[in-house]
Amino acid sequence: MLTCRECDLAKGRTRVVPGEGPDDATVMFIGEAPGQNEDRLGRPFVGAAGQFLDELLGLAGLKRSEVYICNVIKCRPPGNRDPLPAEIMSCKPWLEQQIALKQPKVIVTLGRYSMARWFPGQSISRIHGQPAEKDGVLVYPMYHPAAALHQAALKETIQNDMRQLGRLLQTLDGRAPAEGTPVTPIPPPAAPAPPLELRSQPTQTSLAAALPAAAAAAQPPTPKPDESQQLSMF
Ligand code: SF4
Repeated sequence: MLTCRECDLAKGRTRVVPGEGPDDATVMFIGEAPGQNEDRLGRPFVGAAGQFLDELLGLAGLKRSEVYICNVIKCRPPGNRDPLPAEIMSCKPWLEQQIALKQPKVIVTLGRYSMARWFPGQSISRIHGQPAEKDGVLVYPMYHPAAALHQAALKETIQNDMRQLGRLLQTLDGRAPAEGTPVTPIPPPAAPAPPLELRSQPTQTSLAAALPAAAAAAQPPTPKPDESQQLSMF
C-alpha cells in the first residue's frame, strides 16, 4: 500500500496513511480521507478531528490504543476536497483487505463516505447511531468527528452516539467501561424510530443474537430540525 499509485492522489501525497491499531482490535473506525496533518505524519486522525475522536473514544470506554482507525481512501485529496468516486473505487481493495485481515466485530463508520460502503443511498442524519449487522459484522454509523468542528450543534449528537456505542460494546462482550468514563443512558426518542430495512433482516450469528439488546441500548435520538439540511456532507 505504501507505494500504491492506483489513482491520481499518489501525485500530491506526502505519505500514504494506511491506518493504525492492534491486529486483534474488536472495533474498527473508518473515516473519510487523510488531511494535512495526517498526510505529513502518515497517521490517521491526528488533527483537530482526531483530538475530538480521542475524547469521543473515552465516552465509549475505549482507548485509542485498543481500536483500529483508518480511512476509506489512504492518500490526501488536494485541498482536503471530498474523495471522488473513482478514487474510492481505486482504494477500495485496500480497505477490503484491512477488514478481512483485522476481522473486527464492530465497524464504526465516521461520515457518509464510509457509511455508503454498507448503507448505500442512506442519509447519515437518518441512520446515525443505529447499528445493523452486515455479513457477520455489526456496523455502527456515526457522523464524522469533523462535523462537530463545523457545526457545534452536532457535538452533543456525536457524543451521545459514542456513548451508545459504549453500551453496545458492553452488550456484545460484557465489558465494563473504563474507569472515569461512565456510559450514560440515552433518553428515549420523542417519536418512534423510522424502520431500517437492514434491521429487519438479521442473520443467524452471535452478533444477531445481541442485536435486539444492542438496538435497545442504541435508541436513535430524534434528528434536530436542521440536522439533515446542514450536514449531508458528513
Ligand atoms: S488513494 Fe488509495 S488507490 Fe489512490 S494512490 Fe493512495 S493508496 Fe493507492
